[in-house]
This record gives sequence, C-alpha cells and structure tokens, in this order.
Amino acid sequence: MWRRIITFGIIGLILWFHFGKGESLFLLFFSIPIFSLLILYLLIAEDKISVAIGVSFVLLLSIYGIDQTHNHFFFLLASIAVFIVGGAFLYQRSWNRKIAEIEAKKSLMQKETEALQERYETRLESLKHLEQRVNGLAHLFEMARDFSECLDFSDMISLLNQKIGPELSFIRGFIIVLTDASGGGYAVGHSFSFGPRKRKNETLANEFAGECIQVLGVTKEILKLEGTKGEAKNRFVRFQTSFPLWLFPLWVGQQLIAILAIEGGAESDFQKFEVLASQLALQIKKVRLYEAVKETSIVDGLTRVFVRRHLLERFQEELKRSIRHLFPLSVLMVDVDHFKSYNDKFGHLVGDKTLREAAQIIRENVRRVDVIGRYGGEEFLIIAPEIDKAKAIELAERIRSATARKRFQLYDEETQVTVSIGLSSFPEDLELRRPKEFSPEFMDALIQKADQALYKAKEEGRNRVVAYGS
Ligand code: GH3
Ligand code: MG
Ligand code: MG
Repeated sequence: MWRRIITFGIIGLILWFHFGKGESLFLLFFSIPIFSLLILYLLIAEDKISVAIGVSFVLLLSIYGIDQTHNHFFFLLASIAVFIVGGAFLYQRSWNRKIAEIEAKKSLMQKETEALQERYETRLESLKHLEQRVNGLAHLFEMARDFSECLDFSDMISLLNQKIGPELSFIRGFIIVLTDASGGGYAVGHSFSFGPRKRKNETLANEFAGECIQVLGVTKEILKLEGTKGEAKNRFVRFQTSFPLWLFPLWVGQQLIAILAIEGGAESDFQKFEVLASQLALQIKKVRLYEAVKETSIVDGLTRVFVRRHLLERFQEELKRSIRHLFPLSVLMVDVDHFKSYNDKFGHLVGDKTLREAAQIIRENVRRVDVIGRYGGEEFLIIAPEIDKAKAIELAERIRSATARKRFQLYDEETQVTVSIGLSSFPEDLELRRPKEFSPEFMDALIQKADQALYKAKEEGRNRVVAYGS
C-alpha cells in the first residue's frame, strides 16, 4: 500500500511542479477530467482503498499546487471530483459487499438445499427399503395363514419349498423336531430338509441334526456361525455345510421344540428368517399335537400297531393298487399260541407286555411298506404288498422263529411264547384270478383264507407257518 501511495505522491509532485510553473490553463482543464477518469478506472478495476487514497492525495496535491498561482475554482473542481470519485468508490464498495453477502447467502442456501436433497434421497431410499421389508414380512404373515391349513409335516415342507424358496435367499433349510432324550436333553424326533439344495443323504442329515442339537442345546439362543472360524468349521464342515450357518431355537413358551438351521442365507434376509422361525415354532407344535391325536385314533395303545379299522382301510388301498398293476400281495394272520393259559399262568399284566413285545418282533421283521394291525385280541394281521406266496412264507418263518427264540424278561419272570401264522396271497388265492376292479369281497376272502391256514397251523401242532392251499 505504501509503495503505491509513494508512487502517486511522486507523480503528484511532478504534476504540481509542471502545472505550478507552466501556468497552462488549457492543460489544466484537460488534465482534471483525465485524472478523474483515471481514478475511476483504477477504483473500478482494482477496488482497493490504498489506490483511492493515493489517487486522491495526488489529485489534491497537484490541484493545490495549481491553485496557489490561479484561483479557488480549480481547487473546488478537484475537490468535487475527489468527492464524486470517493462517493462512487464507497457506493461501489457497499454495493460489492451487498453482492458478496447475497452471493454468500446464495451459496449457503445452495449448500442447504443440496444437504436437504441428500437427506431427502436417503430418506426415500430407506423408505423404499422399509417398504420392501414390510412387503417381505407381509408375505411371511400371509404364509402363516397358509401354514394354519397344514396338518402334517410333509404339507408344511412343501409349503416352505413353494413359498420360502423363491422369496428368501439361502442354500438350504433344515428343521429338526426335538424329542426328550432318555438322559435329559434332546434327541432328533423328525428332521426335514427344504430349499433349493435339499439334504439327500439321510445318515449325514441325521448326524448334522445331532450336531445342531449339541451346539444349540447349550446356549439355546440364535447362533450365527461363519465358516471361517475354527470351531464352527471343524464341527460342521464334515456335513457339507454351506456357511454362514444360522441356528434358530424354536420355542413355544418355555419349551424348546425344534431347531431351524439355515445354510448360506443372505444377511439381508436374516430378519425374515427370524420371523419365519417364530411362526414355525407354533406350527410344529400344532402339527405334533395333530399327529398325536391322529395316532391315538389309528394306533393301538398297547401294541403300537394300527387298530383294526385303519388296518382294513390300508388293506383296501393296497389291494386296489395290486389289482390295478397286477402286483402280488400277501396277508399274514399271526396268533399267539396258548395265550389263554399263558395269561392264567403269568397274569394279565405280563400277558399285555408279551403282546407288546410280540408286536415289536413283527415290526422288526417286516419292511416299512408292510402294514401291521391288531386284528383281534392277540391276533395280528400283516398286509405285505408286492410279496408273493413264496416270499410271504419266508417272511412268516422269520417272524415265527424270531418269536420262538426270544426270552422275555417281564416283572422278574423269564417267559417265552410261540406264534402260529396262516397266510394267503393275491392273486392265486382268489377265485377270480384276474379281477378287473376291486371288490370288498376280495379282502374278506383273503382274510378268511389266511384264517383257515392259521386254523390248520394250530391243528398241526402250533408254532408253525401254513400257507393257504398248501
Ligand atoms: P390258541 O390260539 O393257541 O389256540 O390258544 P389261545 O389260548 O391263544 O386261544 P385264543 O387265541 O382263542 O385265546 C385268546 C386269548 O388271548 C384270550 C385272552 O385271554 C387273551 N387276550 C386277548 N387279548 C388280550 C390282551 O389284550 N391282553 C392279554 N393279556 N390277553 C389277551
Ligand atoms: Mg391264540
Ligand atoms: Mg386268538
């Protein structure tokens, strides 16, 4: 600043010297407007107070120099010029300041608008996210309605496959229904796999279920296991587990009734699986109750085989199927020998236990597809689909010899029973060898012939197998 003031001061001194000595009015008249213009130019161009002061000082000084030799008119003129220029400068400064303020306000508002816009956009984004979640949850609750119509586990699993599979992102799910283990704790009741890549290896699935029970049985809280961590990896990787593995305990009140295991689930769907878990818990409880009620009506309480009514229903289904496809089918009537005197000797309680054991021996010797029922007091009927007479004789012989070998340890008594078995087979034991349609008479005929064979077995001395017509 001082450098400029000194520069303009020197220019002023030169002018003063020139005009003061030269006394040229013509030059003087021209030099004042030229200076004024120069000042204006500088002020407008540079907008600096130091320049303004310097120029004003030079102007006043030079005019003063002229004025000493002439009159006051020039000094007045110069002063007016300085005032005009000064005023213009001040006006411009204040104007500039106002513009700067407005600019600052504008940029502040712009920033605020941008921030607002940003906030609005994030809100919108989170609203969209929320809407998606609400839709997802609504879908899950809708599914709860469908769940209420499921009365068994297979319905439940097919619903899960239909609705959950496409909706949530995961590799596979596994439901482990728990039962109480003998030494306290829990054991696997049923287990079901669902989702895009179901578990097919039953043994591996069972071991996996056992491990899930062990891990979750301790904490009884939701567990999220990553495959990278040592312990979880060691425990689960051998079951071809896809990580992350989430284990949800399914509670009904204070009772842990099942475990939901989700493999390879997307983190964004975690909450939905939590909701699903809470719904599944109630559903599993309901299905279990329903199955228990159903079982009491179709399963005999003492021997745990089907009651007569249900046995006959199943017999009808199987015989219809055999007639349709011309498959063989055999009917085995099993009767405990001298059971009346056995009861008399050991008492009814021992008799009951013996009947239960006899049923167990039959169960252990038939296939899963064979149907066992309690036909009369101590008579069992076995329906063996796709088993011809020769195979039926083998099966009956297995049951007979297994029973005869068995020693029962009941209420401090060691006992033993034998059974006699009569059997008949479709189609050879029906008069109509190739029936086109099912008739209930066929069932009666086959049972009757098995009974006749049984009678023969008794006659021949018991503890033996007799096939009808042999
Ligand atoms: P066999 O068949 O060898 O000719 O002689 P049996 O003494 O077994 O004769 P039968 O089959 O007619 O006897 C049926 C007996 O089985 C009568 C009854 O005392 C007994 N029984 C039937 N149902 C039950 C039951 O639920 N519990 C017990 N403890 N005994 C039963
Ligand atoms: Mg008997
Ligand atoms: Mg009998």
